[in-house]
Amino acid sequence: ESFDAMGLQENLLRGIYAYGFEKPSAIQQRGIVPFCKGLDVIQQAQSGTGKTATFCSGILQQLDYATVECQALVLAPTRELAQQIEKVMRALGDYLGVKVHACVGGTSVREDQRILSSGVHVVVGTPGRVFDMLRRQSLRPDYIKMFVLDEADEMLSRGFKDQIYDIFQLLPPKIQVGVFSATMPPEALEITRKFMNKPVRILV
Ligand code: AMP
Repeated sequence: ESFDAMGLQENLLRGIYAYGFEKPSAIQQRGIVPFCKGLDVIQQAQSGTGKTATFCSGILQQLDYATVECQALVLAPTRELAQQIEKVMRALGDYLGVKVHACVGGTSVREDQRILSSGVHVVVGTPGRVFDMLRRQSLRPDYIKMFVLDEADEMLSRGFKDQIYDIFQLLPPKIQVGVFSATMPPEALEITRKFMNKPVRILV
């Protein structure tokens, strides 16, 4: 019913309210708490439903701010969406001191490497550049404990399947996975079967 009742940290709530949200949307009401418990979640939801704040809140709630290691990785189908998610994550996590970086194509590889080596908690990116950063060991996967695929159907239809699988292979074995997708084509279902452990399904 309210953000207050979700058991979120005070400084995350401050960020949510300062961003202008007053009441959680339907997907937020159903999705934030399971995500915060560390469960794997499949959320079938269109954009416009508030899915971004759902996984951003779930990630921000669970990060360990005492260490500046990358602990969460979010993949998105386009540069614009990745940068949009970066902004929301940074805004909601403003009072937590979260460090977020967007790794997307068409930007300087050197600059990405510089920012990653300076330390971040969360990386949001498109599959190509993220895989490149992992391959170059500029992004260390060792502390990643949360992995979100946003607009999974859209990523698959853009031909990112192999890169998503390649990235997943490099991540630690016990990792929380969130899949957000408007539709669930066979390839998206295959991802949920291969990568997820007893996922909670939320249909909005
Ligand atoms: P999304 O589905 O994440 O792309 O969000 C769609 C739009 O809804 C964005 O402009 C968000 O800022 C807005 N939004 C998300 N959650 C809420 C909320 N709880 N209250 C008001 N606006 C929201």
